[in-house]
Amino acid sequence: MEYSPGFLLPATLYLLIDVLFPDFSRRHKIQSSERQPTWIEIRHCMFLTLFNHIWPLVIYLLFAYWTEFQQATFIMDSKLPSLKTIVFDFVFGLLACEVSFYYVHRALHHPSIYAYIHKKHHKYTTPFSFAAEYAHPFEHLVANVLPIMLPLALKGTHFLSFFIFSVFELWEAAADHSGYDFLKLPPAELHDLHHAKFRVNYSPLGLMDWIHGTDVVGWDRPRYRRKRVSLWQMGSRRRSCDRR
Ligand SMILES: [Zn+2]
Ligand SMILES: [Zn+2]
Repeated sequence: MEYSPGFLLPATLYLLIDVLFPDFSRRHKIQSSERQPTWIEIRHCMFLTLFNHIWPLVIYLLFAYWTEFQQATFIMDSKLPSLKTIVFDFVFGLLACEVSFYYVHRALHHPSIYAYIHKKHHKYTTPFSFAAEYAHPFEHLVANVLPIMLPLALKGTHFLSFFIFSVFELWEAAADHSGYDFLKLPPAELHDLHHAKFRVNYSPLGLMDWIHGTDVVGWDRPRYRRKRVSLWQMGSRRRSCDRR
């Protein structure tokens, strides 16, 4: 239930910076003023984003009504979890989201799927906060909702742990797309570059990109791959020479 205010509040605050402090905004935008979206584009984006907040809520309420609120996804006990448990759940959620979002996002970039689903999210090559949830409804479910919700739901965490984690993740999504270069770790530049160049920086934290080598623009170009292979071969040749 906190999903909508958890995202809409920070997204609105980032947008208000554009309106109330235009000079500050210009100084801190990652991409140039010429590349920023128009207000017509922003308004268009906000309509789909709001729609993506309404339909999951309707499904959730119908499900809850149908099961008479017996099939609660999270523990709603009045006994609150300890700080240690909350921190553990938070780290678990971060890592599970990093792994699941990375593979879902990579799959959405597959040439046979991209044009039908993920291309919509990439409409804005210069992102702004509301663009975080400008997505095809299927993508919204598998990339935005499930990686945040499912791991902690399967683990059976207390609702308080999930609340703290999801509020953080939703702020992170708005910050990642805000187009601003401040108050973000890892920096928003990572996902901004994904919107500008498409096939780079797929994961939220950058850990999975580092593991798979997808954190460099051009990783998928044959020349770059050849370069990587030859460097690896040079290393293995050097190792075999050392053994002799
Ligand atoms: Zn994005
Ligand atoms: Zn993408």
